[in-house]
Amino acid sequence: MNEWKNNLRKIEPYVPGEQSKDKDIVKINANENPYPPSPAAIKALKEFNADSLRFYPPADATPLKAAIAEYYGVKVENVFLGNGSDDVIALSFQAFFNSKKPIAYPDITYSFYPVWCDLLSIPYKTYPLGADFRINVDNYKEENGGVIIPNPNAPTSLGEGEEFVRRLMDYNADSVVIIDEAYVDFGGKSSVPLTKEYENLLVTGTFSKSRSLAGMRIGFAIGSKALISVLEAVKNSYNSYTVDSLSIAMGIASIKDDTYFKATVAKIIATRERVTNELRELGFTVFDSQANFIFTTHEKFRAEEIFNYLKERKVFVRYFRIPAIENYLRISIGTDEEMNAFLKELKGYIKEKK
Ligand SMILES: *Cc1c(COP(=O)(O)O)cnc(C)c1O
Repeated sequence: MNEWKNNLRKIEPYVPGEQSKDKDIVKINANENPYPPSPAAIKALKEFNADSLRFYPPADATPLKAAIAEYYGVKVENVFLGNGSDDVIALSFQAFFNSKKPIAYPDITYSFYPVWCDLLSIPYKTYPLGADFRINVDNYKEENGGVIIPNPNAPTSLGEGEEFVRRLMDYNADSVVIIDEAYVDFGGKSSVPLTKEYENLLVTGTFSKSRSLAGMRIGFAIGSKALISVLEAVKNSYNSYTVDSLSIAMGIASIKDDTYFKATVAKIIATRERVTNELRELGFTVFDSQANFIFTTHEKFRAEEIFNYLKERKVFVRYFRIPAIENYLRISIGTDEEMNAFLKELKGYIKEKK
């Protein structure tokens, strides 16, 4: 009886930052953008012809691909689109990581990578970050079945420069290397230009963070035609229509509004620098972030205790119960008002402890 239960997939899914419907919550736990999407994207939404939803979207989503290609100075054939970059990366794992050798990535990184490896039965090997929490590029000399590195890395917030990526590519001429650039717009160095030099380099990006469109699920990859055509083949073996018509319309409007994009990113960076300085004045160690979040620790206070204290006062930050970073907090950059509310509660905590 119930033998069918033996055939159910046993798998540990990825757990995202907690969501909440409570409007009073200062929600700085999921690296979402605190500002609305571009007014041009909102206009595209308002003017969207709902009747057109009867039709399938263009299967190759060419209009949005073309807008992305123009923005990054590549050809349409170098752009792949997916339902958020999580979708793009999961499809990339299926398309490129088919070796029996383990794929390589840092031990402290985006926690979705091991989940996809388990789901897709891809062997993997992780390499520890240095004491300064940076990635040691020389680790990636070791033979592997592929490499994936977020740049800037999460949750450390630290980015690497062009030299790092060039060395990584030199060591890995026989593997596909994926650079996950979810946070690059907040001060990182994009490797998109290097995709013209290295046929085995794929760069992934998203509209979720810097373009305030996490709810629309728009992700992309840029790479050589050799890589993109295989990604397309894998996608078309699974679901031909990953990007919906409304995402195409809003995505195009968003990427064409560079003025709003630059202004929003600049505001977040300014708030990040201010909060970093204030936290340092309170005795926190804060890494020099190139992302829309900061990663911080205090030698006198337990991160988990601060996390719980803030949560009781409706300020949600992110805490990871992972040994190497168990005394760290990841704090997304919200509006100035949200960050002031966070700092006020944090100061309340420190006062109570003294
Ligand atoms: C947020 C994030 C993504 C994916 O975001 P999508 O919303 O699926 O585009 C990918 N990689 C990292 C490191 C992220 O933090």
